[in-house]
Amino acid sequence: MFLTISATGTPERPATDLGFLLHKHPESAQAFTTSYGTAHVLYPEASAERCTAALLLDVDPVALVRRRQGRGGQGRSPDAALAQYVNDRPYAASSLLAVALGTVFSSALRGVCKARPERAEEPLPLRVEVPVLPARGGPDLVRRLFAPLGWTVGAEQVGLDATFPEWGGSRYVRLVLEGELRLARALRHLYVLLPVLDDAKHYWVSADEVDKLLRAGEGWLAGHPEQHLITSRYLARRRSLTREASQRLELARLADADDTDVEEIDNAVDEATDTEEKPVPLAVRRRAAILDALRSAGAARVLDLGCGQGQLVHELLKDARFTEIVGLDVSVRALTVAARRLGLERMGERQAARVRLVQGSLVYTDKRLKGYDAAVLSEVIEHLDLPRLPALEYAVFGSARPRTVLVTTPNVEYNVRWETLPAGHVRHGDHRFEWTREEFRGWAERVAARHGYGVRHVPVGPDDPEVGPPTQMAVFTLSERPTTGPATTDPTTTEKEATAA
Ligand code: SAH
Repeated sequence: MFLTISATGTPERPATDLGFLLHKHPESAQAFTTSYGTAHVLYPEASAERCTAALLLDVDPVALVRRRQGRGGQGRSPDAALAQYVNDRPYAASSLLAVALGTVFSSALRGVCKARPERAEEPLPLRVEVPVLPARGGPDLVRRLFAPLGWTVGAEQVGLDATFPEWGGSRYVRLVLEGELRLARALRHLYVLLPVLDDAKHYWVSADEVDKLLRAGEGWLAGHPEQHLITSRYLARRRSLTREASQRLELARLADADDTDVEEIDNAVDEATDTEEKPVPLAVRRRAAILDALRSAGAARVLDLGCGQGQLVHELLKDARFTEIVGLDVSVRALTVAARRLGLERMGERQAARVRLVQGSLVYTDKRLKGYDAAVLSEVIEHLDLPRLPALEYAVFGSARPRTVLVTTPNVEYNVRWETLPAGHVRHGDHRFEWTREEFRGWAERVAARHGYGVRHVPVGPDDPEVGPPTQMAVFTLSERPTTGPATTDPTTTEKEATAA
């Protein structure tokens, strides 16, 4: 059984960092004893441009059978008895390879790398190759499993015999995956999906397999279109375990900080809450409220700060009055998804000239953000640690200083209306805080006063008489006109404030 992982690099970011990330030095071949045989790690190539680590598992079929009998092997037919010894195990990748991955690269799987912590966090250009992978479901299933995770998938059925093509294909696939992913993420995909494809677990499936699955699946399994198939096969189709895993995944989905976007969470919460007619998802209502406010402010050049995967940018593009749209986010991954979803590469020239996606952090002042009509911070502030909020405040209201600023954030009071949300929990695992209406108003008023803005508040979603709306939005309008004279207050603003108070 054989698997290779390659990375490409540059002199500044050498591919040989792969050795640090895997905790295995490129210059030495190493061997590890596992209960099924010996796992070897070696590097067929190791240069700054390209580095390949190979994991070779030398399975001892006899040890494998002994282990099985050790846990109560029943009487088998003579053929089956022979099949135990004469089988494809030593040559084909399978759950054993996944076990070896878990043993040999355990720190890398957890994403731990003391020597190169920053490299462990960033996506690398990776290529994974498994020459012979047993795949029940064939190349099609292989693609359905890996493609949604960001891999470009090569999956070719291996012929039974090159000399006799008429014999047709075997149940093996030659797998080549290419993509820009964090190494830990890539290893976890393999750790879970290799046995899923093999569909014949070679070790006992016990209750702690659910934990293992959820740990390895963190951040990607909950949103996977084939989640059910993956869970069921991984847990050897044991119903009670599969059910437990599905329930816990649903909760994880609600709290998944890393990859799930806000919209999905809102939708899931909406679905879980409302059993009557199909409600308008909260994320859709939020965007509608934002667009309304931008239109009535007469904004044409708009910043979407913390744009995430670009849903609002997409809406803005549909309306020609928004002539310049800039989406900014700190996450390169979010921006990559946004660019793909918006189809930036396929866009006509005129459309493309209206939109730009830029990477940046809102806790630093940024010259590129000056001179716009409006800035939107939709569900962003709660992702910052409270002590960093003043820095964002200064970067947006003090330095970029657009005429209109829209800020939306969850109203924590509303959380009690969501039955699926355990008491005392925030809506998203990455939320550093969620505010009551009073807390948000207090903050907004202090910011407005400090920077010369007026502010009014707009509820988004059903405005519950007791707990208020699920989303709260503050609309800030610059009230000082520093170039034309002394500070004035926008009369509409004061009026709305008075009614809101
Ligand atoms: N505005 C989008 C996404 C909200 S999720 C929406 O309404 O759906 C919050 C986003 O803020 C994430 O994409 C996250 O990467 C981004 N973010 C968090 N901290 C940031 C910072 N310091 N600078 C820029 N973006 C940040």
